[in-house]
Amino acid sequence: MAEFNINTFSMEDVLAFIPQKVGAVIVVDAKEDRIRTLSKKGIFQDFIRDDWTYLNLIENLWYHFSNSSETIAENYHVFLETSGKFTGNYSRRISLMVGETAHQAQMMVYPLAEDFYLFLLDELDISVCRDEDLTNKKVDAIQNIYLFSMYIDIVRDTTSSISVTEISDEVVNQQLKYSEWRNMIINMIDKEYQQQFLTETDPETLKKKYAPGQTFSFDCLMMNLEGKYIWVKLIFSRSETTNADDYRFVFMVQNIHEESLELRQNLKQYEKMASLDPLTSIYNHGRIETELNNAVVERSKNSRNASIMMLDIDFFKKVNDTYGHSVGDITLKHFAECILDGLKDKNAVLGRWGGEEFTAVCYETSLDDAKELAEALRTKVEAEPFDKIGHITCSIGITEITANDNFDRAFERMDHALYEAKSAGRNCVKVG
Ligand code: GH3
Ligand code: MG
Ligand code: MG
Repeated sequence: MAEFNINTFSMEDVLAFIPQKVGAVIVVDAKEDRIRTLSKKGIFQDFIRDDWTYLNLIENLWYHFSNSSETIAENYHVFLETSGKFTGNYSRRISLMVGETAHQAQMMVYPLAEDFYLFLLDELDISVCRDEDLTNKKVDAIQNIYLFSMYIDIVRDTTSSISVTEISDEVVNQQLKYSEWRNMIINMIDKEYQQQFLTETDPETLKKKYAPGQTFSFDCLMMNLEGKYIWVKLIFSRSETTNADDYRFVFMVQNIHEESLELRQNLKQYEKMASLDPLTSIYNHGRIETELNNAVVERSKNSRNASIMMLDIDFFKKVNDTYGHSVGDITLKHFAECILDGLKDKNAVLGRWGGEEFTAVCYETSLDDAKELAEALRTKVEAEPFDKIGHITCSIGITEITANDNFDRAFERMDHALYEAKSAGRNCVKVG
């Protein structure tokens, strides 16, 4: 290196130094969305393309995922424009992907005139950055679940300190009114939740509903930067204040996708379990009672036929007494499967009313059809070989639901028909 003396180092030397040492020097016309690269070297040689617009530059410099060259979903590009306005000198660390390699760089922006900027870019020495990097990673891990955060001032209609953790853990430069942000972000919310979002985020609602220090949230499906809809928790928290006219909020988007999917899956599972009989896996008493009730209500509203039937195994006590309770259980299971099989092509549901009594609701089934169906089920059971015990029979009571029935009357007719079938010597079908 040449002899160096600070006394002789001049402004001319500085100007000569810039193209040799600074990674890239770019002038920007934001109004025309144009850039012109005055000099570039090193990684910037290939990275900065001559045909880029200003928005291309912003997108490639700091509107991409950290440590990935993946681009951000098209819907989010509306925010690019609001990121490229600078009113004072600005500087930030950025992470750039050149091919498969991540590079750390520093970006400096100097406003030259309104909408005209000078961008200086420099690659940083990775080894010097590493310690900082590790700290950043730790912060990343903590922030991982928060995708987005910002401050909102409802009275001034402003947003500030926007941070998009998927992009960087730093604050994003954005000149965005709260009202504008609301109109833009609504397009990232799943259609089903848009109305709720607009209601909950309405400035007047926020002002009226929440006292200083209060926090509220709601869950919805929202498009992430990759363009996928995920479950998020939108959190609003009003800042503590002693000034009644101070309406500042912190807004955060928390990624709850994995837990949400699991929870939803579990709820479905529990709902299913709550309506099934554990022994036979058909509907339990509560669920089949609801089905019966619904069928009666439906029938009063339209003219579609519906019939109901109750099936009771004959002399089932003897099965238990002779072969034991566990064989009795296996028989009940087998019986339920046998009836279910007999109903498989029908528009019907089957439930265990209790003990060895079963109820079926047969939709779009007239009394004549129900008689035929019950007879078919009765003969099917009669012919079915049951493990250990051989053969059993069942008695069936049926009735058709009428237009001005109620649950009790319909049930009473069906129950009475079953009683008659038992009285008539069992293994038969009676109508009530
Ligand atoms: P009927 O022909 O008059 O219907 O005679 P039945 O023996 O089938 O009727 P009863 O009501 O006298 O007896 C029903 C028996 O069903 C009594 C009870 O031990 C048995 N039972 C009820 N629930 C279960 C169960 O979950 N498992 C087993 N193994 N048996 C059950
Ligand atoms: Mg019985
Ligand atoms: Mg019984």
